Amino acid sequence: MSDNHDPSSEQTTLPWMIALIAGGGICAMLVFVTTRSAKLAALIGSALIVSLLIGWWAAIWARATRSGVRPLAQSNSPSGMPLAETIESGVASTRFARAAIEATPNPVIIIDQGGQIVATNQASRTRFSLGEEQVRFNNAIRRPDLIDAVEGVLKDRQPRNYPIETRVPVDRFERVSIAAFEFRGAIFVLVSVQDETEIRMSERMRADFLANASHELRTPLAAIIGFIETLRGPARDDEVARTKFLEVMHLQAGRMSRLISDLLSLSRIELNEHVQPTGSCNLTSAVFEAVDGLTPDKKQRIRIVGDPQPIWLLGDRDEMAQVISNLIDNALKYGGARESVSLYLSSDLIRDDAVTTAMRQWEDASRLPLTSPPVERDRLYAVLRVEDLGPGIARQHLPRLSERFFRIEDTASGKGGTGLGLAIVKHIVSRHRGGLVVESELGRGSAFSVYLPQTSARFGTADGTSDG
Ligand code: ADP
Repeated sequence: MSDNHDPSSEQTTLPWMIALIAGGGICAMLVFVTTRSAKLAALIGSALIVSLLIGWWAAIWARATRSGVRPLAQSNSPSGMPLAETIESGVASTRFARAAIEATPNPVIIIDQGGQIVATNQASRTRFSLGEEQVRFNNAIRRPDLIDAVEGVLKDRQPRNYPIETRVPVDRFERVSIAAFEFRGAIFVLVSVQDETEIRMSERMRADFLANASHELRTPLAAIIGFIETLRGPARDDEVARTKFLEVMHLQAGRMSRLISDLLSLSRIELNEHVQPTGSCNLTSAVFEAVDGLTPDKKQRIRIVGDPQPIWLLGDRDEMAQVISNLIDNALKYGGARESVSLYLSSDLIRDDAVTTAMRQWEDASRLPLTSPPVERDRLYAVLRVEDLGPGIARQHLPRLSERFFRIEDTASGKGGTGLGLAIVKHIVSRHRGGLVVESELGRGSAFSVYLPQTSARFGTADGTSDG
């Protein structure tokens, strides 16, 4: 049965036939009445019926031909659904798929058979620095392993799943899943990326914490146990020794407590280092608050140089406070008992100017970047330089500053440090995509500086001013 079969034509045929035969009969009767010739009446009646029949069939054929050339959109699709609806539902499902991909929190990329990227989401554009325009996958992604894997999946259609590690700007561990799928006869590849940094870092953190804690706590713990044994034995009744030993035990217990809290801070920061803070904080107010929190004798040694206007950083306020207090503590601790410490605040500097301001102030000094941020065009930086007038640090020690537990014996002895302060500063600064540099000259002093991204871009306006 034809798809174009019209049941309505069947319904109209019978009355028309009856009407035609009746019309022909009436004509034949009229001819017979007027001419009295039966032969002539039969001839004219049948001729009339035949010609009317031919005309009627011609009209039906013309209508059928016209209705056969229906607009495409009114035709039926193979599914039986009108084609217009099929097209509309195709467009709608593509839009739906794109919206679903866009809402996915993990990076997702869809590539066609020719290696062209046909869909991305915000997470993948951020992760792989992709634009909105369609480009070839192997031009946009500069990871040979990923390109090989995608090409492999396009060839054999076998899904692949493997880990990738990135070291710059910070350690990042991810798992990439690549799978092929067919849509309307064409092959596509879906690449999705799962961030496993937190899981991997927490495994590493647990192992490091146990190793560091047990190693570093052993010395003060052994000292405390030794003093307790002496006090229970030979010095049981020695009043002077008891007072002296209790004082040392108090110092060692304090050191153990600082070690644990510094190790915990360091582990916590390392865990989040790959996630850049998105909030904003005011560097100027954080500096003034840190100085206000010092004891009066320390406070009077501090000099703040720079415009006290707010400097908005892309950052976490608590972590910034920790950076400022660690640098000020070191300058007060190692910068000579009575010498002053200067804090220089600068802002709205492009990267090169920020680096110069941070570590090129003393002509004959040694200098070294301890961590540097990835290059970001149009980024503006603020600088905090903490300068002391202490004995300075010899050139050969500079590369090891900010290493965990590194302490320079001649300067650090008796100062009660843990050797973790600068490591904490370095990790916080890396997390903020900033830089940490040192400049030092023996006999003149040391300057530790951080430069940190501001919320405002070079050609833009501030994108956040809440002190969070
Ligand atoms: P600590 O808790 O021992 O101070 P840090 O990581 O903060 O640990 O510093 C590491 C070492 O670097 C210190 O032990 C000290 O020897 C040296 N140091 C840090 N800051 C200064 C400074 N401003 N002047 C001289 N030496 C410093």
